Amino acid sequence: MNLDEFITWQNECEKRYIFLGKGGFMGRGVPFECGPGWQKLLEELFEELEEIRVRDKLEEFTVVQLKEKFGGLRVYTSYNTDAIDEAIDKAEEKAWNTCMTCGKPGKYSIVYGWRVTYCPKCLKEYTKEQDEWRNE
Ligand SMILES: [Zn+2]
Repeated sequence: MNLDEFITWQNECEKRYIFLGKGGFMGRGVPFECGPGWQKLLEELFEELEEIRVRDKLEEFTVVQLKEKFGGLRVYTSYNTDAIDEAIDKAEEKAWNTCMTCGKPGKYSIVYGWRVTYCPKCLKEYTKEQDEWRNE
C-alpha cells in the first residue's frame, strides 16, 4: 500500500468507524500520522475497538490521536476501559515489529538519532538517504 492508497483507506475508515470520524479537533476525523506499513495492524485494532464499542455500549468513545512517535505507535482515546487498553497495547506491541513503510517484519533502531521501525530493506534505504543528505 502506497501513501495515496493509505490516505484513501483513512477516509474509508472514518466513514466505517464512528469513533474515528468524529474524534478530532471540532469533531472532525483524526489524521493517521504514521506510515502505510501499519495499515493491517490498524485495521485489526479498529475492528476490535468497534466490537468493544458495540458490546460495552460506549456511544461516546472516540480515538483522539493516532501517530508514530519515536518509532512506535501511539493511540490516544477519549476514555479508556481495560478492554480498550488491551486492544491498543496489542497493536502498539505489533507496531514495534512491523516496518512502518512497507508492513514487513521489522525492528526498532536509531539512525543518526532518529528512532525508526523498519524492515532490513527499508532501513537500508533510509540510512542511505540520511548518509547522502549528510554528505551533500
Ligand atoms: Zn519495509
